[in-house]
Amino acid sequence: MANVANAQEVTMAENEKPRWSIAIHGGAGTMSRDRMTDEIQEEYKAALQTALDAGAKVLADGGTSLDAVQAAIIILEDDPHFNAGRGAVFTYKGVNEHDAAIMDGRDRSAGASTGTTQVKNPILLARSVMVDSPHVFLSRQGAEVFAREQNIELVDPDYFATPRRWKQLEELKAKKLGWFDVDLKYGTVGAVAVDSDGNIAAGTSTGGLTGKRWGRVGDSPIIGAGTYADNRACAVSATGAGEYFIRAGVAHEICARMRMLGESAEVAAQAVIAEVGELGGSGGVIVAAPDGTTAFVMNTPGMYRGRADSSGVSEVAIFDDE
Ligand code: ASP
Repeated sequence: MANVANAQEVTMAENEKPRWSIAIHGGAGTMSRDRMTDEIQEEYKAALQTALDAGAKVLADGGTSLDAVQAAIIILEDDPHFNAGRGAVFTYKGVNEHDAAIMDGRDRSAGASTGTTQVKNPILLARSVMVDSPHVFLSRQGAEVFAREQNIELVDPDYFATPRRWKQLEELKAKKLGWFDVDLKYGTVGAVAVDSDGNIAAGTSTGGLTGKRWGRVGDSPIIGAGTYADNRACAVSATGAGEYFIRAGVAHEICARMRMLGESAEVAAQAVIAEVGELGGSGGVIVAAPDGTTAFVMNTPGMYRGRADSSGVSEVAIFDDE
């Protein structure tokens, strides 16, 4: 696995700054061209484009970055290609347990939930935790009691289960490799956006890692690790081996570097993903700065991703060299 972070950044001259922009990801991992047919690549790209278009439409219509992030993530949660919502990975016990977080860069209000098994769209629960509760982070049954009280849609847990993810759990158990899958089953989803008022937001949603046990929580719902937004600096959504992203405080660290060292989104993200690599972790981040700049940085061979902005950019990619 590559240890050098790969990065792409869209930076524009002052007079060309986009009025709004959005970037999304659908997970990072060891995807390679020889293990993926052209047809499957096209399927993923179409799925990413649909989510990107939904988020971009909110922004083009003058909507907020929070609504754009939410719109893109709901589509990815509903799509079984990704490890979030329907199509999430299984725990060791064969359950789909979801984590999600959302953050508003205007005032750093945030909401997150972990270990839910019935909430159809965990990103909606995270948003409701942010807006309708005095708390930031709710877990497991308590989070579901709250979801019910807020009339957030609950579904039978079977709704989330797919044969492909079940097979991945069986393979993991057969290999007896360890506590959970270190070869990421890519598919965590996230979005970062800047709206035409210059407000930024970030969101992330995941089933976590295949074979997770003991109520394991990854970085995705942890504010400052997998998700962060601060109008003074940036919005970040991460994907990768969560334990390392928690230890490096990835999302907050990138924002702190941008705010205090004046680094660009790409430079800050490169430095922090390099630290994750030094610790032994792999994955990637998407970053949006208030000026509309977006960056993708990963130390894996690929990350499902896309970006769009008001200048007409609208693109999706899978491999690190794209
Ligand atoms: N970061 C997620 C977790 O550790 C997994 C992923 O991004 O694939 O739960």
